[in-house]
Amino acid sequence: MNNCKIYLKPKKEESLLRFHPWIFSGAVAAIEGSPAEGEHVYVYSSDKLFLGVGHYQIGSITVRILSFTCVEINVSFWTNRIHKAFVLRQALGLVYSMKNDTYRLIHGEGDGLPGLIIDMYAHIAVIQAHTVGMHHARRDIAKALREVFGSYVHRIYYKSEGTLPYKADLGEANEYLFDGSPNEPPVATENGMKFHVDWLKGQKTGFYIDQRDNRSLLQHYAKGRTVLNMFCYTGGFSVYALQGGASLVHSVDSSAKAIALTNENVSLNFPADTRHQAFAEDAFSFLEKMEEKYDLIILDPPAFAKHKNVLRNALLGYRKLNAIALKKIRPGGILFTFSCSQIVSKNDFRLTVFSAAAQTGRAVRILHQLTQPADHPINIYHPEGEYLKGLVLQIE
Ligand code: SAH
Repeated sequence: MNNCKIYLKPKKEESLLRFHPWIFSGAVAAIEGSPAEGEHVYVYSSDKLFLGVGHYQIGSITVRILSFTCVEINVSFWTNRIHKAFVLRQALGLVYSMKNDTYRLIHGEGDGLPGLIIDMYAHIAVIQAHTVGMHHARRDIAKALREVFGSYVHRIYYKSEGTLPYKADLGEANEYLFDGSPNEPPVATENGMKFHVDWLKGQKTGFYIDQRDNRSLLQHYAKGRTVLNMFCYTGGFSVYALQGGASLVHSVDSSAKAIALTNENVSLNFPADTRHQAFAEDAFSFLEKMEEKYDLIILDPPAFAKHKNVLRNALLGYRKLNAIALKKIRPGGILFTFSCSQIVSKNDFRLTVFSAAAQTGRAVRILHQLTQPADHPINIYHPEGEYLKGLVLQIE
């Protein structure tokens, strides 16, 4: 156990006492010892009250708290935390079920583990670290996963090449931490539907698990409708639309790889079904020239804004996209529209869609206001963790 200590400036403990897990560099008065980046440090108030233990990092967030009680960060710590997260997912009916084996096991701050994501695809766990501390802890975390899941977990892949701080220069950040079943086909089940998951080369950990509940909702609206799934990636919404009885489904993504994956997933669930077609094309050019023939449209673009200084442009992008869809959707149509940009607030997004609707002059009603599912929990003291926003609209 190392003994590096961080003392905060007077009054800077307030957010920690409310369980917000970040300590910004400006709040630090003194550092005792010389912690290496990624090591854990013990944090105290200016009057020497213990506040928490967390990972030390160089940058604007100096410490991310792992525990507000004084514990040692070792394999049994990780095992306890992963087990707690597992129990929640079990209560949600996501675990060990024939119908579903795809879920997020650890959602960073939402599960009290800032900087750590773990996604489960059947017998495969994919770990993604966003901090140096989580990178260093990866082997202990893998051990803990095997403690919690026993022989159920066949492979553990660590995929952090794109998420670790670039300046930390940590070398190889993609590797198997456990590979007990190298020939197993990578198929995951979500609500009874099958998906190929490419955790090696795919976006994020391989699949957008966060849209599970929203895809389920879409299934109910699909019957007899002509559907356009814009920004389809793995074709998740397309598969659910077909399952729900859509009369036609068109999937669009600018990435040829995504289109190949979509076609693969559609065939996996609906072999030789002629209702589906996929197009590798830019969203804006497709929408500009498309005919007014869709009565259900999904818009699930990538995060248009990753930083505050590009927020305005991002909102203009969302407005333009939504305005074309709202203008061209058939009367009585349903639009599922999303933003996954963390810095675009629920209110910003709603106002943007409002002004897109106003441009079209059509009557529009909000049927649902959507967010991320319960396996992506939000620490109420850390509202930054709420990133997915969606609206389901009916257009006259
Ligand atoms: N709806 C998907 C996730 C979408 S991720 C799901 O449920 O899994 C965003 C997708 O948008 C990516 O696959 C990316 O390739 C695609 N994309 C990014 N820019 C695009 C553009 N200009 N036109 C079309 N697709 C684009």
